[in-house]
Amino acid sequence: MADIGMRAFVTAGVRELGGLAEEPGANALELVLPDALREPLNGREYLSIDLDREALTVDSPVVIAVADALAQGGCAAQAWLNPVYLQGGDLEAKWARAFRLTAGRATLAARTLEETTHALFELRTTYETDEKEDRLYTVAVNLTTLAPYEAVVRERASFFLDEAPASGELVRAVVPNLEELRRPLENALRRALAPDLAELRARQEKFLARELGRLEQYYGTLEAELDERGRRPAQQERAARLVEHRRAVALDRAKKRRDAVEKHRLRVSAEVFALLLLHQPWLRATMRLESRREAVERPFFWNPALKAFAPAVCDACAEETSTFCLHGGRLLCPSCTGSG
Ligand SMILES: [Zn+2]
Repeated sequence: MADIGMRAFVTAGVRELGGLAEEPGANALELVLPDALREPLNGREYLSIDLDREALTVDSPVVIAVADALAQGGCAAQAWLNPVYLQGGDLEAKWARAFRLTAGRATLAARTLEETTHALFELRTTYETDEKEDRLYTVAVNLTTLAPYEAVVRERASFFLDEAPASGELVRAVVPNLEELRRPLENALRRALAPDLAELRARQEKFLARELGRLEQYYGTLEAELDERGRRPAQQERAARLVEHRRAVALDRAKKRRDAVEKHRLRVSAEVFALLLLHQPWLRATMRLESRREAVERPFFWNPALKAFAPAVCDACAEETSTFCLHGGRLLCPSCTGSG
């Protein structure tokens, strides 16, 4: 990474952690280190870096210390996406290509330029059976629609992010509290890890089936032996012992089965370790949707950075849908329309 990027990272990181960072000259950096950086940097309180003599790289002690300290406290950052084409063109025609209203018609009632924020969560997900494995996922929830937004994650690598807005003062998106985001975040994560989860579950089921097969074989042989012994005439005392023995074997078999199922049970947990708030301008397209019986006005959002509408969800099940049916003032997806 270019030195300028490392320098910006160190100054922003030191300030974020509660220290002071000054740039007295083009090639000098004066740092008053916060507590979190003193120990990793040999107990120093001040650091003066002459960048002509000592270029900052990913291996520089100060860069490593800042990165470690930020990672421990969880990491929040923000960036702006400043798309160029904010006009949107014929939004009504674009809406008609992206969405469908069954038995009704849709017209553009109003358009407004506003700012929105996507919350991109980096999650560390732990898959645990008798072994433990961590995998990382990124999911996005839009804070205007409160819906998952997969395309933002998918296209992120091609975005050119800035540190400030270029579009002047726009109406800001309201940042909701995290509790409000729990449901869309869980939905987004569930969708992101579905392929991995299916694969791991199938693998565990295969292991379990193999182990249960071995147990069945072992206890099957044992019980067959006991059956064989039971067929021979025996004294009362011996017959009673045999019954006892059988019961013990049956209990043992059930316990071993339970243990095997427990051992191969897949437990999944996830924790957020970084959050990027990505701000951008987009167009609110208020659509008037009407059927023969009723009409509603509803905002949809044209994203100029992706040249596409943001995902829209069903009013009943909150699942993403592109086909709507107007029903009692609500916009429903095809499956909710069918059920009610
Ligand atoms: Zn639905």
